[in-house]
Amino acid sequence: MTQPTPQWLILHTQQTGDDPTLTGTQAHPRHCKKCGRLTLTGYDSHIMAGLAITNPNPLTPRLEAAAVILHIPTYRLWGTPGHYQLTPRHQPRIPPLGTHPPANQVTVLAQHNCHHPPLSRETLPTRPPQSAIDLERIPF
Ligand SMILES: [Zn+2]
Repeated sequence: MTQPTPQWLILHTQQTGDDPTLTGTQAHPRHCKKCGRLTLTGYDSHIMAGLAITNPNPLTPRLEAAAVILHIPTYRLWGTPGHYQLTPRHQPRIPPLGTHPPANQVTVLAQHNCHHPPLSRETLPTRPPQSAIDLERIPF
């Protein structure tokens, strides 16, 4: 049995254009509605959340430095394919809180921008791996 969509969520969706299927902080693979490129999209916090739309291309420490210089927001990626979450790391014009481990110790993604290619060519898996043999589907 499905619950009816709460009125506040309908109004929020109409006013902001946010995707109502993005609840919680899980990041989902999505194709950008404007350019069609693959993104990882999700809210970046449980409270005071912003919508993070990132390229699924991990940054090296040098590429993260380039993103900071270019005022491109960056996010730390947590979890495994199918269970990713994003938290803010560098947000332009917002003073950083605390310290972050370097990008060669954690996975760092840059915000998606339709008009610029991703900063790196390496792409993360966005979906959990399929098992090589599905035992339920073997026809004998
Ligand atoms: Zn785009």
